[in-house]
Amino acid sequence: NWYHGASYLISAAELSQLPEDTGFEVAFAGRSNAGKSSAINTICNQKSLCRTSKTPGRTQLINQFELDDTHRLTDLPGYGYAKVPEAMKRRWQKTLGEYLETRKCLQGVVLMMDIRHPMSSHDLQMLEWARACNMPVHCLLTKADKLKRGPAKSTLLQVLKELKKMSPLFTAQMFSSSKRDGLPEAWQKLNEWYQV
Ligand code: GDP
Repeated sequence: NWYHGASYLISAAELSQLPEDTGFEVAFAGRSNAGKSSAINTICNQKSLCRTSKTPGRTQLINQFELDDTHRLTDLPGYGYAKVPEAMKRRWQKTLGEYLETRKCLQGVVLMMDIRHPMSSHDLQMLEWARACNMPVHCLLTKADKLKRGPAKSTLLQVLKELKKMSPLFTAQMFSSSKRDGLPEAWQKLNEWYQV
């Protein structure tokens, strides 16, 4: 599996520190504690490629991992963490917005949302950004193991319905890092975006 070969590339505080804007990138985004680090580790089958955080929102850096010379995975800072100072939040919103709007090699955004409380105001803001720049978004409803099958399924259907109203480029699936559920579907979407 190609994703298992991912390796750490760079942590950037500014967009200017990122590698040249060529090849293919897919970005992972989500509220702090949504299960983003766990999802990246699970998708890449590595224990600690991405640090799972006990202190959510601490890493205010854009971390990048490389799959090969022309394909990178971008771990965007978790948003919406209450304890981050307001000024820092604004600065990060700006950096995040700039990354999404200007990064030409960006093929799509994987948006992690805890299946127990999806579509938060921050998630909606991210989706609105993506819609405005015609960016595809694939939502992972994370921690799907926390709900029974019925409620999980109806949440997925509800989210799919809302996404469909926003953009034809928005998709969603269930995902569980603990149970390793949803991996083939996630890999398939990534393959599509990476054109591999
Ligand atoms: P991040 O802040 O978005 O990177 O979130 P983390 O990956 O650090 O996960 C936040 C918390 O949710 C941690 O305590 C994880 O153990 C837990 N978690 C992450 N994924 C899952 C999952 O699939 N199932 C369950 N039950 N817990 C999860």
